Amino acid sequence: MSKEELECSFCGRKKPDTDLLIAGLDAHICDRCIEQAHGIVTEEALHSNKSELSKELMLKKPKAIKAFLDQYIIGQEHSKRIMSVAVYNHYKRLLQIKGDDDVEIEKSNIIIVGETGTGKTLIAKTISRMLNVPLAIVDATVLTEAGYVGEDVESILTRLLQAADYNVEKAQRGIVFIDEIDKIARKSDNPSITRDVSGEGVQQALLKLLEGTIVNVPPKGGRKHPDQKFIEVDTENILFIAGGAFDGIDRKISKRLNLQAVGFSASKKENTLERDNLIKYIIPKDLKDFGLIPEIIGRLPVLTYMNPLDKSTLRAILTEPKNAIIKQYKKLFEMDGVAFDITEEAMGFIVKQAVSYKLGARGLRSLCEEVLTDAMFELPGTDEKTLHVTKEYAEKKLNRSIINKLKAVS
Ligand code: ADP
Repeated sequence: MSKEELECSFCGRKKPDTDLLIAGLDAHICDRCIEQAHGIVTEEALHSNKSELSKELMLKKPKAIKAFLDQYIIGQEHSKRIMSVAVYNHYKRLLQIKGDDDVEIEKSNIIIVGETGTGKTLIAKTISRMLNVPLAIVDATVLTEAGYVGEDVESILTRLLQAADYNVEKAQRGIVFIDEIDKIARKSDNPSITRDVSGEGVQQALLKLLEGTIVNVPPKGGRKHPDQKFIEVDTENILFIAGGAFDGIDRKISKRLNLQAVGFSASKKENTLERDNLIKYIIPKDLKDFGLIPEIIGRLPVLTYMNPLDKSTLRAILTEPKNAIIKQYKKLFEMDGVAFDITEEAMGFIVKQAVSYKLGARGLRSLCEEVLTDAMFELPGTDEKTLHVTKEYAEKKLNRSIINKLKAVS
């Protein structure tokens, strides 16, 4: 048979009519049929993913979820336990067969209170990675009530759809992390007669999403436009995690605790509480006193907190998580054939700087970057095959970069 006479065994197209014809043992396949077949394979994989998801979820018990979180998040034991149970219950709820009996498991949306940089976003990210579900991270401060300048709450779901590559099924099982929820707190305790565009109105708008409803989502975000086709998204099975620093909430907690303590040895109790981390005594009422409306608090029934990061936690964050910063630099240098190590004193110095500049865990990365940038620039392509970072080395680099910054300002 001549080359021209060869044909695709699937569609019958002759070789000259194809861009490519691949030969098998007894058959041929053309480029178009390969593409079609590939489409079918991906489609099938998506469907089987659903059962995969449930199988995986059934297997992961709260202890296993916590063990996974432990690999990435240092400390925050309390939060990891509470979140493990909440996530487990949430996905158990997804697997329940509706109409079985009268017991309907309600959503276990979560609210995390903790200073910035203590790992609130990290925990949401880690859970989504573990479950292999899409995650949208949104900032509550950009949201406004419908009709005002800013983003409608539906934009949250646009983000989730984007994270799910517009696969609605997947988006509907995803996670939404709403950051800075404290910034939409009611400004004063008196519900005002005038509208509170950025506060209570947004909380009201969020209510429905949190509870579970079908929302018409503009796929590209932005304002709702009559010409734009909407995608219907059911929020019933989306897990919402809200996070916020709630600056000053400790005063409300302390006030409440001290009030309760009246009649007991109040002064003694006050002393011990002052020194303690008050956030661990948080209860939903404190959120209400801060300015969240009771309905929102009710829709975020799992309340947990993140501890401020102390020196030893910051030190551990440098090297212990699965993708710890120091491990990342080791890998980067390794790719250039450079063996990188850093002394305990040098790491202690970096941690001290992070604490003294109040940079928290986020600062660790920028400090390491300052210390190592010169080496990352100079070493590749040279004969230097080791980099040994001592405290003196780190001090020198940081001092220089600070001097440079001062120069840049002046
Ligand atoms: P938040 O959302 O509370 O403001 P993030 O989760 O964004 O804080 O944390 C910022 C960065 O700090 C993270 O990317 C992570 O590298 C690091 N980090 C913070 N807390 C922890 C922790 N407990 N364990 C490990 N890394 C942490």
